[in-house]
Amino acid sequence: MQRRMIEVRGIVQGVGFRPFVYGLAARHRLTGFVRNQAGRVVIEAEGDSLALDRFLVELADRSPPLAHIKELSWEPRQLCGDQAFCIEASEVDDSGAVFISPDSATCQDCLSELLDPTNRRHGYPFLNCTNCGPRLTIITGAPYDRSLTTMSGFPMCAACRAEFEDPGDRRFHAQPTACSACGPRLQLLDADGQPSSTPDPLASFAQALLAGKIGAIKGLGGYHLTCDARRHDAVGELRCRKHRDEKPFAVMVPDIAAAAALCEVSSAERELLLSTQAPIVLLRKRLPHVVTDEVAPLNPRLGVVLPYSPLHHLLMRAVSCIPLVMTSGNRSDEPIAYVEDVMERLAGIADLFLTHDRPIHVRCDDSVTRVIDEIESPVRRSRGYAPRPVTLPIDCPRPILAVGGQLKATFALGCGNQAFLSHHMGDLDHYDAFRAFERDVGLYEQLVGVTPEWIVCDQHPDYATTRFAEERSRRLRQQLLRVQHHHAHMASCMAENGLTETVIGVTFDGTGYGTDGAVWGGEFLVGNYREFRRSAHLRYVGMPGGEQAIREPWRMAVAQLADADAESGLLETRCLRRDLLAVKTVLSRRAFTPLTSSAGRLFDAIASLAGIRDRVSYEGQAAVELEALAEDVPPDISYPFELSQQVEGNPPEPVLIVDTRELIRAVTRDAMTGTSAARIARRFHSTLVEIIARVCGHLHEETGLTSVVLGGGVFMNALLTSEVYRQLCRDGFRVYRHRLVPPNDGGLSLGQVAIAAALHCG
Ligand code: ZN
Ligand code: ZN
Ligand code: FE
Repeated sequence: MQRRMIEVRGIVQGVGFRPFVYGLAARHRLTGFVRNQAGRVVIEAEGDSLALDRFLVELADRSPPLAHIKELSWEPRQLCGDQAFCIEASEVDDSGAVFISPDSATCQDCLSELLDPTNRRHGYPFLNCTNCGPRLTIITGAPYDRSLTTMSGFPMCAACRAEFEDPGDRRFHAQPTACSACGPRLQLLDADGQPSSTPDPLASFAQALLAGKIGAIKGLGGYHLTCDARRHDAVGELRCRKHRDEKPFAVMVPDIAAAAALCEVSSAERELLLSTQAPIVLLRKRLPHVVTDEVAPLNPRLGVVLPYSPLHHLLMRAVSCIPLVMTSGNRSDEPIAYVEDVMERLAGIADLFLTHDRPIHVRCDDSVTRVIDEIESPVRRSRGYAPRPVTLPIDCPRPILAVGGQLKATFALGCGNQAFLSHHMGDLDHYDAFRAFERDVGLYEQLVGVTPEWIVCDQHPDYATTRFAEERSRRLRQQLLRVQHHHAHMASCMAENGLTETVIGVTFDGTGYGTDGAVWGGEFLVGNYREFRRSAHLRYVGMPGGEQAIREPWRMAVAQLADADAESGLLETRCLRRDLLAVKTVLSRRAFTPLTSSAGRLFDAIASLAGIRDRVSYEGQAAVELEALAEDVPPDISYPFELSQQVEGNPPEPVLIVDTRELIRAVTRDAMTGTSAARIARRFHSTLVEIIARVCGHLHEETGLTSVVLGGGVFMNALLTSEVYRQLCRDGFRVYRHRLVPPNDGGLSLGQVAIAAALHCG
């Protein structure tokens, strides 16, 4: 006979962990108790020592689906002679990090109930249990308890209360549980926000969609705009009303079979579609298929998501399982509409609204992910993933708040060896998004139960997050650390891969503020969390018109042609003489022309030279289209480039420059002699692979380093990532890529936390 005190940390609260422990203890004939305490679960169990051993093993191996054990430890205790095993009430104690579960897709048990005509929750669009349902999006404070969720206004009926209090029930302490007698209800509103008198809001909504209307539907983290994805007219109208020119929409399909009918689905992709996170997965289209081209024009991929709430399951059935466009309810790049502002924000876009009275507290967009070589490569980490933490390879000596970047913003709270990454906060240029950012920082601090003592931001002086960090550090007298953008990208990839050694960091992205004030983005860094050296970069060219050059790739083409002395008349056929002249003048005077080494801008220039695209309607569009074209062509040759040593910086240090002028001249020759855009795109990708391999080889000779991390938004490109990965492995490197957080600026905050933790470690 023995008694053990067992502590379990991780996501163990609000996920049915205590009833699970209770059942396990009963099976092993153990006595004692289990309780939630200060962000962890504490168990005291007494019984046969062999049974206790098995109990411990099963505790870790068989935990409930939403539980996520980070640490499990035990120590012996004096025997107490308990007669039974019981679940004790929680202690009110707010110290210690509490791990809140992300929102989770409807589980199989709940789905069966939803569709079972004999069940009391048959057809109820808000059913959930301890294994599924809303979490982050309804939380208003800590500890996680119904009174601190947006379900607080719905007192449980007797039947729900009985389940809630029964340790043997799968709704035991399921905080958001409800039924049609006591829970939220659907309501249908017309375009002006007037309630409709329909007896069945869902059926009426579905009918309107089938008739080609555009609907707004309130989901877990905000409103979605939806329409029949097969109808050219409806999708075109949505695109027009939303002012979203060409950016792809996602579609929701009823099940995995429907997804496989539209797109190729690998086993890793299938797993993601069916996961509790239920992200939008970017899949390769099968052609022909029923979804109109308007949904994702000029894109070989389609974002597909399966129903993840009971309401979505019911909607899918109500529209006879046709694919529905499901896109964030907003205009263009504004944040997703979620609460009282919805009528105003979506006025003129939606023909009708399917809404309900369960408030959304935390606005949370759908997550977007893709699979590269059967490994997940997140594009946007949000609903279903946040606020699950990432384990750091180093400890934060004090709590740290990292505020991330400006676009695709996320923040992170570092505490112990965990970094709690926020959901996607969007583009903080929008004041509304920035307000949500400020508020949600406060909410996460409460949820994690820490007050950060250090704050980290980007070196960019004009990011909203930088100003937020400066203001906060002044107000709270907190130490402020400014981290270089690409250093954070590198550290982000290191951190999620558990690296602490010095590495070569290949960080390719669109824009990041450089230590010399230039726009960096094609960088080879050598370093670790504490320090880095910029060892190589793409050759600087001017960015005529600054930000405008990002929206108009032809400007980058002009800049590259001028730099390479490759005046060819190529652009004269497509651009106005007047525009060309203006840009050339701007370039030669170096007015409004920051220097850039950005790989993203190089993609833009190539896209324009190859005749693919002179203007983009969303960020990264030129690169997405180049990748799409290149995929369908077998590799042949690559373009020439040169590496040259230069001395740069302060203090002056030798730097390897990737001279792209030969590349530009060769692309221009190809374009002039009628080589197809697809072939040019393919050759360009091969060239980038070669550039990265040659530079890494060079840096290896110089430093002896053998680990390479790949970071920055350019590595959302599957073709490039896959080929760079394979080439570097062939060359004998250990290569690390992102799997947990996005390689783009959504992952910056993780890197910032790791750097701050290391720098302050003494
Ligand atoms: Zn469930
Ligand atoms: Zn009820
Ligand atoms: Fe970046």
